[in-house]
Amino acid sequence: MAQQAELARLIGEYRGGVPGPRVIFLGGVHGNEPAGIIALERVLSVLHAAHPPFRGKMLALRGNLAALARSSRYVDEDLNRIWTLPRLNALAECPRKESAGTAEEKEQRELFRILQPILHDCSAPVYLVDLHTTSSESPPFLILADTIRNRKLARQVPAPLILGMEELLEGTILNYVGDLGISALAFEAGQHGQQRSVEHHVAAIWILLSAAGCLSAAHVPGFEAGRALLAESVAGLSRVFEVRFRYGVQAGEEFRMEPGYRNFRKIKRGETLARSRAGAIRSPFDGHIFMPLYQSQGNDGFFVIRPVASFRLKLSEWLRRLKIDKLLPFLPGISRNPSAPDEVTANPLIARWYVPEVFHLLGYRKIRIEGRRLIFVKHRYDLYGPEKEQVRSKKWQVASVNVSEPITFAHSLQLLLATSHLQLATALLCNLPL
Ligand SMILES: [Zn+2]
Repeated sequence: MAQQAELARLIGEYRGGVPGPRVIFLGGVHGNEPAGIIALERVLSVLHAAHPPFRGKMLALRGNLAALARSSRYVDEDLNRIWTLPRLNALAECPRKESAGTAEEKEQRELFRILQPILHDCSAPVYLVDLHTTSSESPPFLILADTIRNRKLARQVPAPLILGMEELLEGTILNYVGDLGISALAFEAGQHGQQRSVEHHVAAIWILLSAAGCLSAAHVPGFEAGRALLAESVAGLSRVFEVRFRYGVQAGEEFRMEPGYRNFRKIKRGETLARSRAGAIRSPFDGHIFMPLYQSQGNDGFFVIRPVASFRLKLSEWLRRLKIDKLLPFLPGISRNPSAPDEVTANPLIARWYVPEVFHLLGYRKIRIEGRRLIFVKHRYDLYGPEKEQVRSKKWQVASVNVSEPITFAHSLQLLLATSHLQLATALLCNLPL
């Protein structure tokens, strides 16, 4: 039985003659979005026919088989919101349990069983790309957790990058694999049912295989045409956006978007975007509408996003490479969790306005609110993946780093520099438009 399910799960795979990265593609995680699967079948048929020089392995999987059969987003619950820690712990304890659960728990169990060995094998870099389409009319775009590694991969695709979604959505596949150190992104190709969305997916798959180092663009027929098609579809849009607001739909509120909100359309503060039983739902500030909900299933009503200036991205990369965040606990209102070194607690009453923008700059994301305190956690694999960490930790063992080193004059100087960097960062954030 399990073997039969796995065959249907597998769209296809392609293995090169040389060891190298493994790139996992998911299509149809939402059952009403088959465009990614069609595109993956098309790319795999070209690979199997042409046999271009290829390093590593490409694996393409179907996401929600039961929902794909019904052409609905999901059957019982959203497969892309159930990858939470308690559920993952339960899966890890009992991966082969076949007892009753939701339809999506069954899908998750099968995907988990296939993905786990690949995701935990650190012998070569692993990438995961989740292919989607949207209910509203939309240009293509990418969603990614804001790590330097993810940015590097996503920048190869000529489409806007959306940062910060990992703070607002719990239980996504991207969050799950990202926490394991996998470079991961979701590519949204355009509106459901549009032929152009399939073309966008095909172009993005080739670009990402090339960016991961599996093949050379020179060996892909139509590579540059695909890139040009994507670039043309996003002409006039900013390169990077940050999610600033999510409107969560409550059960029974009868949420209805106002008609005509194409994804990325500019909106004004106070503009009526949707209606519910309680009345008009207005934008909390100026920005761009993002992923307005024009289908019955799903509870993300809409998001509001704002462009991120390129200087801020560069500054953030520079601060992260310098590991300035090590000095965060020296700032007033901020303390590190002694039992979880990657976690930092901020008291917004003391730390004031530099929370959470400065935390984002330094590679942290907000994970919860405890009373008045905000808890942030650092992206563990921001600059390096787990495979590199293994090599580094071996070196460290030889070098024998003393973590309880006393504060020296050099450290004091570092602290002085870091504080001025933070001041510079916050000043830039304050005075210049984002
Ligand atoms: Zn989707």
